[in-house]
Amino acid sequence: MIIDFHTHFFPLKIAKTTIEGLEKNSSGKAWTDGTIEGLKQNMLKAGVNLSIGLPVMTKPTQFDSLNRFAFTVNQEFGVEGGVISFAGIHPLCEDIPSKMKFIKESGFKGVKIHPDYQGCFIDHDGYIKILNCAKDLDLIVVTHSGVDDGYKNQPVRCPPELCAKVIDKVGHKKLVLGHYGAHKQWDKVLEILCEKDVYFDTAFTFHEIDERLFKDILYRHGEDKILFATDCPWRDMKQDLDILNGYKLDKTIMDKILYMNALKLLEI
Ligand SMILES: [Zn+2]
Repeated sequence: MIIDFHTHFFPLKIAKTTIEGLEKNSSGKAWTDGTIEGLKQNMLKAGVNLSIGLPVMTKPTQFDSLNRFAFTVNQEFGVEGGVISFAGIHPLCEDIPSKMKFIKESGFKGVKIHPDYQGCFIDHDGYIKILNCAKDLDLIVVTHSGVDDGYKNQPVRCPPELCAKVIDKVGHKKLVLGHYGAHKQWDKVLEILCEKDVYFDTAFTFHEIDERLFKDILYRHGEDKILFATDCPWRDMKQDLDILNGYKLDKTIMDKILYMNALKLLEI
């Protein structure tokens, strides 16, 4: 079994324009057309059984429409159908506790936050509230971490130093740092974040990190807190899997990274 813990897709109506806009902004190239159907094709090619969709809410006003779509995805697909979506939340949303409660009651397993797209640093009061609510409600939080290629020449809003402070302050055991702790800041991940009680996903990592550094982080952090992820459509699942397979890790470690840690975290 293989679970991809970090993917993106959009409602049919806006998939094309959203992908085009994001491609232009990051000078990256999408591997799917941005739809769930496109994601499914990429999964099939790589043998991925379950994908977690992570919606990014860029404005607080998107709360209802974005989460309505995410909810329908879970109704239509769900674990059996191979795709589940997390909910979105924004640190500037009003009444975060009741919104987080609504998310929990709607059956979501977790929420996605993105400090760069949401214009707030990870230690912002809104994020602390989101994390504390998630801890009380037993919801997973996935955050983008490190450099975002779409935000060149801007401060990194979730860097390892700040992230470490937030982890120590909140102590939420179901926090996932996207992009292997912090995209393009992996030396600092090794120094500051390894051994903290936090998960790293591997989204948008394999084509940029060198094998030695990947393994140094893996062995120092421990294989129980690493989740296979690609960031599809921004990466091709098959290509990333091939790179990971090329590292020749022990089967027990691979099983944990590819699906066992995810199953445990998702409680499915
Ligand atoms: Zn992503």
